[in-house]
Amino acid sequence: MKALDELTFDNRFARLGDAFSTHVLPEPLDEPRLVVASNAAMALLDLDPTVAETPVFAELFSGHKLWAEAEPRAMVYSGHQFGGYTPQLGDGRGLLLGEVYNEAGEHWDLHLKGAGMTPYSRMGDGRAVLRSSIREFLASEALHALGIPSSRALCVIGSSTPVWREKQERGAMVLRLAPSHIRFGHFEYFYYTKKPEQQAELAEHVLSLHYPECKEQPEPYLATFREIVERNAEMIAKWQAYGFCHGVMNTDNMSILGITFDFGPFAFLDDFDAHFICNHSDHEGRYSFSNQVPIGQWNLSALAQALTPFISVDALKEALGLYLPLYQAHYLDLMRRRLGLTTAEDDDQKLVERLLKLMQNSGVDYTLFFRRLGDESAAMAVAKLRDDFVDLAGFDAWAELYKARVERDGNYNEKQRRERMHAVNPLYILRNYLAQNAIAAAESGDYSEVQRLHEVLSKPFEEQAGMEQYAQRPPDWGKHLEISCSS
Ligand code: AMP
Ligand code: MG
Repeated sequence: MKALDELTFDNRFARLGDAFSTHVLPEPLDEPRLVVASNAAMALLDLDPTVAETPVFAELFSGHKLWAEAEPRAMVYSGHQFGGYTPQLGDGRGLLLGEVYNEAGEHWDLHLKGAGMTPYSRMGDGRAVLRSSIREFLASEALHALGIPSSRALCVIGSSTPVWREKQERGAMVLRLAPSHIRFGHFEYFYYTKKPEQQAELAEHVLSLHYPECKEQPEPYLATFREIVERNAEMIAKWQAYGFCHGVMNTDNMSILGITFDFGPFAFLDDFDAHFICNHSDHEGRYSFSNQVPIGQWNLSALAQALTPFISVDALKEALGLYLPLYQAHYLDLMRRRLGLTTAEDDDQKLVERLLKLMQNSGVDYTLFFRRLGDESAAMAVAKLRDDFVDLAGFDAWAELYKARVERDGNYNEKQRRERMHAVNPLYILRNYLAQNAIAAAESGDYSEVQRLHEVLSKPFEEQAGMEQYAQRPPDWGKHLEISCSS
């Protein structure tokens, strides 16, 4: 276990130089205080979890102090936002503080979000408010606990610094961890600004540091792109299987590593709704829940365009062609497991689609349905769940198909069925209203609810004593919360 001053830095991205990022110092927040820290994320840096309670911890992650070896940089990138190209974006309110190596030899970017103005702030103030910092913290750690690839979060530091959004709020910072902060938009930036040398340097950096196994392949860049396609297909399959809606799938928010990245107005589904739009500025539903699948491919095509200097168009097209079949295979595999099935049959896709349609029509809670389905035998479970459906004849017909399918699957032992299903069907997810309750308490100075919610969500598959209130459908006020984009 390390103390805070024992971290080992090796700032490889900073060494790429000024064409890629700009040196900027964090702007400190007033009266910093620890809101919440993740022990699991602390472990990634080999940090002793008790250091989170020391004053220097809050000072380091609120811009007051910096390690001598840190090299804070704002990265430049661009990207397609809601389908249109924005020629220059970049870290407008976040800084890459440096890269830390842990004892296992993994390296982690330390990225401080809300750290003040940079050359890329455009009209913004460089700040993040407490509300959105808590949401990013809770979501990234909760996704990880569900087995969904995501950037991680070490802590949230609150402050008394006023920040103006629709009303006056308080500034906060979240310390984000990821093996890399390189986005699709990084490649787009150097492609569209016609800087082939820097683009080649970036490609070499990504290949050798993040996809070293692709170096052995006959066409290393093509192998890397193929891997990015595969990882995105798998990540989005997990989003769809677990009801996660990202909300702003712009190419500047897509990680080159295929991890969930840049949290804004995201949401987990309460009631199943394929057309759900979590971002209330998304008037056309470009990033609606079910559109995430084709948008994943659209984003990969935008990246492919930026890679045309390195890879032939035919090869790129072929690699892009892998996306949908891979997505479908991962998705179906996950949904089979959520239904408790251990074998594959041709009609399983239809069984899933039919169920989702029934859930959609009746507004059935997406998470609790699957959890309850695994509580007991298939026959007993469907008999109880029947009451949640409006179209009873439709549900009965589905239930007959399902029971027959479970019989053919051949796994009758109820205890095994329950264990198997509960291991993939969470009881606790980050419902918007739960986040909202925790945020309201935190805004009045009580951080215990954020901490408790984080704890509960770190073991989403395990029933936890006394935590029943976190496994409930939303109350009426919490059903369709509008999450502001102004974070
Ligand atoms: P996002 O929608 O959060 O992915 O941000 C899009 C772009 O706007 C990125 O380049 C951000 O760095 C920038 N940005 C967002 N909020 C702010 C802010 N408060 N101050 C400065 N830049 C911001
Ligand atoms: Mg972003």
